[in-house]
Amino acid sequence: DHFDVTAAPNSAALFARASRVTPGGVNSPVRAFRSVGGTPRFMSSGRGAYITDADGKEYVDLVGSWGPMILGHSHPDVIAAVRAAVDRGLSFGTPGVGEVALGEEIVARVAPVEQVRLVSSGTEATMSAIRLARGFTGRPKILKFAGCYHGHVDALLASAGSGVATFALPDSAGVTRSTTAEVIVVPYNDIEAVRAAFAAEPGVIAAVITEAAAANMGVVPPLDGFNAELASIAHADGALLISDEVMTGFRLSRSGMFGLDGARQGWTPDLMTFGKVIGGGLPVGAFGGRADVMSLLAPLGPVYQAGTLSGNPIATAAGLANLQGCTDDLYRHLDATALALGDLASAALAAAGVPHRLQRAGNLFSIFFGPDEVRNYDDARRQNTTAFAAFFHSMLDAGVYLPPSAYEAWFVSGAHDDTALARIADALPAAAQAAASQ
Ligand code: PMP
Repeated sequence: DHFDVTAAPNSAALFARASRVTPGGVNSPVRAFRSVGGTPRFMSSGRGAYITDADGKEYVDLVGSWGPMILGHSHPDVIAAVRAAVDRGLSFGTPGVGEVALGEEIVARVAPVEQVRLVSSGTEATMSAIRLARGFTGRPKILKFAGCYHGHVDALLASAGSGVATFALPDSAGVTRSTTAEVIVVPYNDIEAVRAAFAAEPGVIAAVITEAAAANMGVVPPLDGFNAELASIAHADGALLISDEVMTGFRLSRSGMFGLDGARQGWTPDLMTFGKVIGGGLPVGAFGGRADVMSLLAPLGPVYQAGTLSGNPIATAAGLANLQGCTDDLYRHLDATALALGDLASAALAAAGVPHRLQRAGNLFSIFFGPDEVRNYDDARRQNTTAFAAFFHSMLDAGVYLPPSAYEAWFVSGAHDDTALARIADALPAAAQAAASQ
């Protein structure tokens, strides 16, 4: 049985303890294996491409902490930077040198970011960016895309609405209608719906927020020219474009998805949001962009935003060391590894007769367990999640840790070498057979 808990007795015992003191036994929902079933594995260590659970079982890791571990786990340079920072003290609540260096590195890499402010999560980054966009424009509404995730900001949890621009209903209990009434949700990759939303309410939308490449409904790349059109429609109305690169930033290239798209097609977001890679595994987020917009932030301007641990010296040391490892060589490695791994997985599924679509945005990819191209959230939801669950558990048993959801990207790192790939390749045929039987 794929869902046999006796395979991981220590994880099962920890999960039982955790479930007594923490809702669902986890501190972030997708970790709980709810959509694939079975006992979540409690990890105790990680090195390179591998993580080891509380029962001592080792896995090739294709989650990478959902993005930060781009150099692999326990990278010596990151660990050394953290150790050195720890010796100098943990937090001062004053400005410090580490946050200056991290800010300079972000600004140097991403041309549209003239100024940046550090926060402690991607959620804080998007929350602050939409507040700033509303403050700058004096307008109330935000336009987002169904299936795009921007963290658990109340307004941005709205993702309902299909086909045409609509007022979203709350996606989460506890989010009020007045909050989502100020959010317009349209289908991803549907530029006509964006045009219609602006035409219906000119001068009312403060910002369009989009994932630079959607990767939270599985990987759904923007259609060619989509982001450029978004920028031009928003700007024609006096609205801002917020490009959320929390997942793609500093992963797809030195300057994230922007480097593959905006920098080539000549469009520019007004604000961008970051997280994950810029923290190296510690809690860091950031938002930045046009200096005239950023100058509205307190203490210079009237838009308030703050944080006790913002720019924390340990977190910024980890983030800076992580970014310094993000060289052209690393990106070449990530691209080649993602290409090879996606092809391997797709070939195994094809050999077993499993209908699937491999979709890529740079070195991020995912596999939809269905026959058709996925361009938006409605398409994504047509996949066979039961087949994914069987595939996932077979891979897990064989020592490969995939994201425990059919709607998440697969993450590779600089440490994923031929040995790691060979271990994944060995596991794939049986997993594809398991998927075929569903
Ligand atoms: N935006 C995007 C595109 C994300 O992928 C995520 C997290 N997966 C977030 C925002 C939220 O970041 P965090 O979990 O650090 O709050």
